[in-house]
Amino acid sequence: MDNTAAARLAEVNANIARACKQARRSPEDITLIAVSKTHPAEAIQPLIDAGQRVFGENRVQEAQAKWPALREAYPDIELHLIGQLQSNKAEEAVAAFDVIHSLDRLSLLTALAKAMDKAGRQVPCFVQVNIGDEAQKGGCPLAELPAFLEQVRAAAIPLAGLMCIPPADTEAAPFFAMLAKLAADHGLTGLSMGMSSDYETAVMLGATHVRVGSALFGARG
Ligand SMILES: *Cc1c(COP(=O)(O)O)cnc(C)c1O
Repeated sequence: MDNTAAARLAEVNANIARACKQARRSPEDITLIAVSKTHPAEAIQPLIDAGQRVFGENRVQEAQAKWPALREAYPDIELHLIGQLQSNKAEEAVAAFDVIHSLDRLSLLTALAKAMDKAGRQVPCFVQVNIGDEAQKGGCPLAELPAFLEQVRAAAIPLAGLMCIPPADTEAAPFFAMLAKLAADHGLTGLSMGMSSDYETAVMLGATHVRVGSALFGARG
């Protein structure tokens, strides 16, 4: 029995509840995604035992290797893809995940729409925004967001909201505020933002989904 993982989970949930109270929001409106990338099933089990059911992975192959057995044992688990997705992995992603957070370009949209159609399975997608306009980073460029959102809506795949990963080593709050404004401008309610170092700030600024890894699992191995 690993009390450490359970204690970390309780602490993160308490921090989310406190941020909600300050922001006059309901904790039920926040989904905590436990990011289990690089961590084996044995490290995940204590969190499941403690009641956590929503998990995030950043690679299709890793999820395919790790999750089928756990999902069979716990059918109410919800698995989110939070990492970059290649178009040629769209079918596998649609089969392995319940929500995708990294839709950021037309080629991927086309591939996902086709894969969902073929599988007869609708997987809600967040549009990832390159909120800091960083050259190397994934995400839809800010200037292209309105047009891309129109394309997503035309493709009739379930649009969950917007997602961002702010630039490293910078205060995240202004970027979270910007993403919240963009979502509101486009009539979207889902906001996937906030990681271990800044999820409380993200909750204060309207996050509906926080993606927390190391604060739950410890440093990555
Ligand atoms: C790894 C990862 C996280 C979690 O990061 P931590 O700092 O460990 O909480 C969140 N979002 C994305 C996209 C990630 O790749």
